[in-house]
Amino acid sequence: MIEVEVKLRAAHEAVRAALEAADAESKKRLTQVDTYYDAPHRDFAETDEALRVRRERNPPSSDSGAEPAGSDAPGGHRFEETVKVTYKGPLIDAESKTRAEHETAVADGDAAAAIFDGLGFEQAAVVEKEREYFVLDGYTVTLDRVDGLGEFVEVEAEASESADVESVRDGAFEVLRRLGLDPDEQIRTSYLGLLLEDAE
Ligand code: ATP
Ligand code: CA
Ligand code: CA
Repeated sequence: MIEVEVKLRAAHEAVRAALEAADAESKKRLTQVDTYYDAPHRDFAETDEALRVRRERNPPSSDSGAEPAGSDAPGGHRFEETVKVTYKGPLIDAESKTRAEHETAVADGDAAAAIFDGLGFEQAAVVEKEREYFVLDGYTVTLDRVDGLGEFVEVEAEASESADVESVRDGAFEVLRRLGLDPDEQIRTSYLGLLLEDAE
Protein backbone atom coordinates (compact mmCIF):
# COMPACT_ATOMS: atom_id res chain seq x y z
CA MET A 1 0.00 0.00 0.00
CA ILE A 2 1.02 3.62 -0.48
CA GLU A 3 0.95 5.88 2.54
CA VAL A 4 0.26 9.58 1.87
CA GLU A 5 1.22 11.67 4.87
CA VAL A 6 1.76 15.30 5.81
CA LYS A 7 3.32 16.30 9.07
CA LEU A 8 3.88 19.61 10.81
CA ARG A 9 4.79 21.07 14.15
CA ALA A 10 1.70 22.43 15.91
CA ALA A 11 0.50 23.03 19.45
CA HIS A 12 -2.22 20.50 20.18
CA GLU A 13 -4.61 22.69 22.12
CA ALA A 14 -5.86 24.73 19.15
CA VAL A 15 -5.93 21.68 16.86
CA ARG A 16 -7.94 19.73 19.40
CA ALA A 17 -10.52 22.54 19.52
CA ALA A 18 -10.68 22.61 15.70
CA LEU A 19 -11.13 18.81 15.61
CA GLU A 20 -14.01 19.12 18.03
CA ALA A 21 -15.60 21.97 16.06
CA ALA A 22 -15.29 19.90 12.86
CA ASP A 23 -16.95 16.96 14.62
CA ALA A 24 -13.94 14.70 14.05
CA GLU A 25 -14.27 11.19 15.42
CA SER A 26 -11.98 10.57 18.38
CA LYS A 27 -10.22 7.18 18.33
CA LYS A 28 -7.62 5.52 20.51
CA ARG A 29 -4.73 7.00 22.42
CA LEU A 30 -1.48 5.06 22.66
CA THR A 31 2.13 5.15 23.71
CA GLN A 32 4.41 4.06 20.86
CA VAL A 33 8.00 2.99 21.37
CA ASP A 34 9.66 2.65 17.97
CA THR A 35 12.98 0.95 17.40
CA TYR A 36 14.53 1.76 14.00
CA TYR A 37 17.19 -0.45 12.46
CA ASP A 38 20.23 0.12 10.29
CA ALA A 39 20.66 -2.44 7.52
CA PRO A 40 23.89 -4.32 6.82
CA HIS A 41 23.44 -4.11 3.03
CA ARG A 42 22.48 -0.47 2.47
CA ASP A 43 22.28 2.89 4.22
CA PHE A 44 18.66 3.57 5.14
CA ALA A 45 19.42 7.22 5.98
CA GLU A 46 20.62 7.56 2.37
CA THR A 47 17.90 5.50 0.67
CA ASP A 48 15.19 6.94 2.93
CA GLU A 49 13.88 3.48 3.79
CA ALA A 50 13.03 2.27 7.26
CA LEU A 51 12.74 -0.97 9.18
CA ARG A 52 10.98 -0.59 12.48
CA VAL A 53 9.67 -2.59 15.42
CA ARG A 54 6.85 -0.65 17.10
CA ARG A 55 5.56 -1.48 20.57
CA GLU A 56 2.21 0.08 21.40
CA ARG A 57 0.40 0.16 24.66
CA ASN A 58 -2.69 1.70 26.06
CA PRO A 59 -3.23 3.81 28.09
CA PRO A 60 -0.16 6.08 27.91
CA SER A 61 2.22 5.72 30.82
CA SER A 62 1.75 9.40 31.69
CA ASP A 63 -1.71 8.61 33.08
CA SER A 64 -0.62 8.96 36.67
CA GLY A 65 -1.73 6.59 39.34
CA ALA A 66 -4.22 4.33 37.63
CA GLU A 67 -3.14 0.77 36.90
CA PRO A 68 -2.97 0.16 33.15
CA ALA A 69 -5.66 -2.00 31.62
CA GLY A 70 -4.43 -5.55 31.20
CA SER A 71 -1.93 -5.25 34.02
CA ASP A 72 -3.26 -8.49 35.47
CA ALA A 73 -3.34 -10.26 32.11
CA PRO A 74 -2.41 -13.94 32.19
CA GLY A 75 1.16 -14.82 31.33
CA GLY A 76 2.56 -12.22 33.70
CA HIS A 77 2.53 -9.42 31.13
CA ARG A 78 2.30 -6.13 32.90
CA PHE A 79 0.89 -4.29 29.89
CA GLU A 80 -1.17 -5.33 26.98
CA GLU A 81 1.28 -4.64 24.20
CA THR A 82 0.84 -4.76 20.45
CA VAL A 83 3.97 -5.17 18.38
CA LYS A 84 4.18 -4.27 14.70
CA VAL A 85 6.97 -4.65 12.19
CA THR A 86 7.08 -2.04 9.44
CA TYR A 87 9.02 -1.50 6.23
CA LYS A 88 8.87 1.98 4.68
CA GLY A 89 10.12 2.63 1.17
CA PRO A 90 11.71 5.84 -0.14
CA LEU A 91 9.61 9.01 -0.40
CA ILE A 92 7.97 9.20 -3.83
CA ASP A 93 6.39 12.67 -3.78
CA ALA A 94 8.08 16.07 -3.46
CA GLU A 95 5.17 17.68 -1.61
CA SER A 96 4.36 15.12 1.07
CA LYS A 97 5.76 12.13 2.94
CA THR A 98 4.33 9.58 0.52
CA ARG A 99 5.85 6.11 0.23
CA ALA A 100 5.19 2.39 0.06
CA GLU A 101 4.59 0.92 3.47
CA HIS A 102 4.15 -2.66 4.64
CA GLU A 103 3.16 -3.35 8.20
CA THR A 104 2.15 -6.45 10.11
CA ALA A 105 1.54 -7.39 13.72
CA VAL A 106 3.92 -9.87 15.33
CA ALA A 107 3.16 -11.96 18.40
CA ASP A 108 6.57 -11.55 20.02
CA GLY A 109 8.53 -8.30 19.73
CA ASP A 110 11.65 -9.68 21.40
CA ALA A 111 11.74 -12.54 18.89
CA ALA A 112 11.32 -10.12 15.98
CA ALA A 113 14.17 -7.99 17.34
CA ALA A 114 16.34 -11.11 17.76
CA ILE A 115 15.66 -12.11 14.15
CA PHE A 116 16.78 -8.72 12.83
CA ASP A 117 19.77 -8.75 15.17
CA GLY A 118 20.72 -12.23 13.94
CA LEU A 119 20.52 -11.06 10.34
CA GLY A 120 22.92 -8.19 11.01
CA PHE A 121 20.44 -5.34 11.38
CA GLU A 122 21.49 -3.02 14.19
CA GLN A 123 19.31 -0.80 16.37
CA ALA A 124 19.77 2.76 15.10
CA ALA A 125 17.53 4.67 17.49
CA VAL A 126 14.45 4.53 19.66
CA VAL A 127 11.70 7.13 19.24
CA GLU A 128 8.99 7.33 21.88
CA LYS A 129 5.76 9.28 21.72
CA GLU A 130 2.16 9.57 22.80
CA ARG A 131 -0.23 9.45 19.86
CA GLU A 132 -3.90 10.24 19.75
CA TYR A 133 -5.99 9.29 16.71
CA PHE A 134 -8.90 11.13 15.11
CA VAL A 135 -10.76 10.59 11.85
CA LEU A 136 -11.88 13.57 9.75
CA ASP A 137 -13.14 13.52 6.15
CA GLY A 138 -11.78 10.00 5.66
CA TYR A 139 -8.29 11.00 6.84
CA THR A 140 -6.49 9.84 9.95
CA VAL A 141 -5.33 12.79 12.01
CA THR A 142 -2.79 12.07 14.74
CA LEU A 143 -1.67 14.32 17.56
CA ASP A 144 1.87 13.26 18.47
CA ARG A 145 3.83 14.30 21.52
CA VAL A 146 7.33 13.07 20.76
CA ASP A 147 9.84 12.66 23.61
CA GLY A 148 12.56 15.27 23.25
CA LEU A 149 10.87 16.99 20.27
CA GLY A 150 7.44 18.32 21.21
CA GLU A 151 4.01 18.41 19.60
CA PHE A 152 3.23 17.49 16.00
CA VAL A 153 0.20 16.77 13.86
CA GLU A 154 0.07 14.25 11.03
CA VAL A 155 -2.69 13.80 8.45
CA GLU A 156 -2.64 10.64 6.39
CA ALA A 157 -4.58 8.29 4.17
CA GLU A 158 -3.81 5.40 1.88
CA ALA A 159 -3.60 5.67 -1.90
CA SER A 160 -4.34 2.50 -3.80
CA GLU A 161 -2.06 3.43 -6.70
CA SER A 162 0.49 6.12 -7.44
CA ALA A 163 -1.92 7.89 -9.80
CA ASP A 164 -4.07 8.70 -6.77
CA VAL A 165 -1.29 10.27 -4.71
CA GLU A 166 -1.89 13.84 -5.83
CA SER A 167 -5.60 13.89 -5.04
CA VAL A 168 -5.13 12.13 -1.70
CA ARG A 169 -2.40 14.62 -0.82
CA ASP A 170 -4.57 17.60 -1.80
CA GLY A 171 -7.32 16.20 0.43
CA ALA A 172 -4.81 16.01 3.30
CA PHE A 173 -3.90 19.68 2.70
CA GLU A 174 -7.61 20.52 2.85
CA VAL A 175 -7.91 18.72 6.21
CA LEU A 176 -4.94 20.71 7.53
CA ARG A 177 -6.66 23.95 6.49
CA ARG A 178 -9.87 22.87 8.22
CA LEU A 179 -7.78 22.45 11.37
CA GLY A 180 -6.38 25.96 11.04
CA LEU A 181 -3.00 24.69 9.89
CA ASP A 182 -0.92 25.78 6.89
CA PRO A 183 0.18 23.04 4.45
CA ASP A 184 3.17 25.23 3.51
CA GLU A 185 4.52 24.62 7.00
CA GLN A 186 4.77 20.87 6.57
CA ILE A 187 8.04 19.15 7.37
CA ARG A 188 9.25 16.12 5.47
CA THR A 189 11.90 15.14 8.00
CA SER A 190 11.15 12.06 10.10
CA TYR A 191 10.97 12.14 13.90
CA LEU A 192 14.17 10.14 13.88
CA GLY A 193 15.78 12.64 11.50
CA LEU A 194 14.71 15.53 13.73
CA LEU A 195 16.15 13.81 16.80
CA LEU A 196 19.41 13.12 14.97
CA GLU A 197 19.58 16.78 13.84
CA ASP A 198 19.14 17.92 17.45
CA ALA A 199 21.91 15.59 18.54
CA GLU A 200 24.43 17.20 16.15
P1 ATP B 1 4.13 6.29 11.22
O1 ATP B 1 3.67 7.38 10.30
O2 ATP B 1 4.43 5.01 10.48
O3 ATP B 1 3.25 6.07 12.39
P2 ATP B 1 5.97 7.96 12.67
O4 ATP B 1 5.02 9.09 12.40
O5 ATP B 1 6.16 7.54 14.08
O6 ATP B 1 5.59 6.72 11.76
P3 ATP B 1 7.85 9.10 10.80
O7 ATP B 1 8.82 10.14 11.19
O8 ATP B 1 6.67 9.48 9.99
O9 ATP B 1 7.43 8.34 12.14
O10 ATP B 1 8.59 7.92 9.98
C1 ATP B 1 9.78 7.25 10.42
C2 ATP B 1 10.98 7.78 9.66
O11 ATP B 1 12.25 7.38 10.17
C3 ATP B 1 10.98 7.38 8.21
O12 ATP B 1 10.74 8.54 7.44
C4 ATP B 1 12.39 6.85 7.93
O13 ATP B 1 12.87 7.27 6.68
C5 ATP B 1 13.19 7.38 9.08
N1 ATP B 1 14.35 6.51 9.38
C6 ATP B 1 14.29 5.19 9.60
N2 ATP B 1 15.51 4.64 9.83
C7 ATP B 1 16.39 5.67 9.78
C8 ATP B 1 17.82 5.77 9.97
N3 ATP B 1 18.55 4.69 10.29
N4 ATP B 1 18.37 6.99 9.89
C9 ATP B 1 17.61 8.10 9.61
N5 ATP B 1 16.26 8.07 9.40
C10 ATP B 1 15.65 6.88 9.49
CA1 CA C 1 2.01 7.31 8.81
CA1 CA D 1 4.41 9.59 10.25
